Amino acid sequence: MLNKELLVSTLAPFGLEIDEGCFKRLDTYAEMLVKTNESFNLTAITEPDDVTLKHFADCLVLLKYLDIKNGAKVIDVGTGAGFPGLVLLLARPDLKMTFLDSTRKKLGFIGEVLEACNVNAELLHMRAEEAGQSPEYRERFDLTTARAVSNMTNLSEYCLPFLKMGGRFAAMKSAETTEELLQAKKAIGLLGGKTEKEIDFNLTEGIPRKIIILKKISQTPTKYPRPSAKIAKNPII
Ligand code: SAM
Repeated sequence: MLNKELLVSTLAPFGLEIDEGCFKRLDTYAEMLVKTNESFNLTAITEPDDVTLKHFADCLVLLKYLDIKNGAKVIDVGTGAGFPGLVLLLARPDLKMTFLDSTRKKLGFIGEVLEACNVNAELLHMRAEEAGQSPEYRERFDLTTARAVSNMTNLSEYCLPFLKMGGRFAAMKSAETTEELLQAKKAIGLLGGKTEKEIDFNLTEGIPRKIIILKKISQTPTKYPRPSAKIAKNPII
C-alpha cells in the first residue's frame, strides 16, 4: 500500500530513516486504513502516494523536531484514525501512548491496528475538555500531539492541561497559521504555556507545513479546560 521509495526519499532530507520492521507496521496500518475506509469514513486521502506523503511522512517528520525520551508518556488529542499518534507509536513502540477521541468507532479501528501490529496503547473515549479535568489524565503527560483538531486558542485549552511541568505540546498545522498563533498568545500564557518553537518547512515541494511547539512552564489554572459549550462561546482572547 505505502510507496516505500517515496517514503524513504521524503524522509531522507530530514535525516530520518525507517527500518524494515517499522515499515511493515506502517504498511499494515495503511492497508487497514484504506480497507476500513470502504465501509466507515476515516480519511479523504486514499491514493497510495497521497497516503504515504500526507499521512505517514507528514507525521513521521515530527520525530525530527521533537526529542522524545525513551518511554515518554504521550497523548494524541483528537486522534481520529490515529494521526499523528499511531504513526509515532509504530515508529517508536517504546512510547506510552494514549489515543483520545470523542468518536468511539475511530478508537475501535486504532485498537484493531494495534492488535495486528502487536503493540500496546491506551484508548480513551472522552472529550479532551473532560479528560483534562480528570486527575487520571491531568498533568500526567510528557508530550501532547494534535493534528487538524481545532484552532490554536482552543487547542491550547484542550492540550496544555494534560502536560506535566516542562512537558511539550506539538501542534501540526498547515502553513498559514501565523495569525492563529498570534491570536492564541494570551490563551497560551494563561494556560501555563510558552511558545518554544515555530517550525516552517516543506514536506516536499508544494506541501508547506508548520509545527508549533509549546512548553508547559507553569501549572494550568484549575478552571481550565472549561466545558465545551463555554470554550465555544467564550474562547480565551
Ligand atoms: N488528528 C487526526 C488527523 O489528523 O487525521 C483526525 C483529525 S479530525 C479532522 C478531528 C478529530 O478530532 C475527530 O476524530 C474528532 O472526533 C476529534 N475531536 C474534535 N474535538 C474533540 C474534542 N474536544 N475531544 C476529543 N476529540 C475531539
